[in-house]
Amino acid sequence: MQISVVGGSIGGLTAALVLRNLGHEVDVFERSPHVLMQRGAGIGLLPETSRYLTDVADMDIDDISISTSSIVHLARNNSILHQTKHQYRFSSWNTVYRQLLSCWGTERYHLNHEMTQWSNVDVSPISVSFANGSSVESDLVVFADGVNSMARAQLVPGSQPRYSGYVAWRGMVPESEVSASSRACLGDSITYHVYANSHILVYPIPGLDGEVEPGKRLINFVWYRNYASGGDKEDLLTDINGVQREVSLPPGAVSPHHVAEMKAHAAARLPAAIAEIVMKTKEPFLQVVFDLAIPQMNFGHACLLGDSANLARPHAAAGTAKAADDAWALGHALSTSQSVNEALQKYNESQTAIGHQLINRTENIGRRSQFDGTWVPGDRDLIFGLKAPGA
Ligand SMILES: Cc1cc2nc3c(=O)[nH]c(=O)nc-3n(C[C@H](O)[C@H](O)[C@H](O)COP(=O)(O)OP(=O)(O)OC[C@H]3O[C@@H](n4cnc5c(N)ncnc54)[C@H](O)[C@@H]3O)c2cc1C
Repeated sequence: MQISVVGGSIGGLTAALVLRNLGHEVDVFERSPHVLMQRGAGIGLLPETSRYLTDVADMDIDDISISTSSIVHLARNNSILHQTKHQYRFSSWNTVYRQLLSCWGTERYHLNHEMTQWSNVDVSPISVSFANGSSVESDLVVFADGVNSMARAQLVPGSQPRYSGYVAWRGMVPESEVSASSRACLGDSITYHVYANSHILVYPIPGLDGEVEPGKRLINFVWYRNYASGGDKEDLLTDINGVQREVSLPPGAVSPHHVAEMKAHAAARLPAAIAEIVMKTKEPFLQVVFDLAIPQMNFGHACLLGDSANLARPHAAAGTAKAADDAWALGHALSTSQSVNEALQKYNESQTAIGHQLINRTENIGRRSQFDGTWVPGDRDLIFGLKAPGA
């Protein structure tokens, strides 16, 4: 088949690679005019996200990620409140994206192709049009256009992402700039601090060029803070040029007074080792936390994939894993079905169920930490995983 994948991030690229390996003619259309850069900083790396790189491209997982051996909760005075032995892997969005793109190549990765409309998805071929005036005909269209998906908005009317009540402040610091005492405290762990209506986590990720050697890595933080909508949130999301954003503010775009408030709060309230990471971050950035469950992912000869479909909060570190798992499931369904219709129905059944359980789990984690105050260190429900905690 002639397949168009709209959106060239981790979900779109994984889908393109899996479908090309099944013998299809695949093209990826990405709206950005440039190869994507540094989006999303660190990611907890679950096996689904790296599956193509390790199982097909035969990469060594240690070359694209960093392993941590325990989960630590620090008390406000920087002492260890709780410690559990548990191995995680961390990488960066950029490291995974660059490796997937190197597997895919640039020939059929069409930058500067912002999809603007498409023809009836029930009639094949589907014609997809782009802002640059070009169009393409396809037997199957995979919409992997992310959190603000235009495809989702039109195919599932009324499907607005739901604001969780909090945002994630994020940033990274070169490990070499962190004091010896904080490095010793943060060690070989993911480190949490949980307090009233907030929590922050800190973990090592590869350097900007993918370096995984100690000393050349980055220390990444994700700090969940509540902002009421109807004033506080909108003020926070108004960038330095006065433009109000909806989903994220990239590095350098957050108003200086919000950065100053955030850093002052870190200094006053967080354990010293974690506060140091926040305060040394040069250009913190923001991602708004949303969720959204949609009833179906298949539409005639098209489907939604990754964040363009069901959208889960980040607490299970499973966003890219869900997108990649959707890609593998789509490939499996297509290779074991008699028609596109049958394949997309199978795809929809398995992946909608996975998406919905993830949304429920992560909504629960978010509510407990940000609103109810019932997050207990060591609770197994809080372990990362796509299909279940730790799985
Ligand atoms: C605070 C936070 C922390 C997170 N931590 C983790 C983590 O630890 N582990 C993890 O696995 N995940 C994590 N995630 C989730 C993860 O970032 C997303 O789930 C993942 O990036 C989704 O991938 P995707 O390919 O579906 O969509 P996206 O990465 O959003 O990509 C969508 C792509 O589509 C393109 N596009 C959009 N519209 C169009 C259009 N009209 N035409 C053409 N192209 C278009 C965009 O430019 C973009 O490249 C986190 C998310 C947040 C907010």
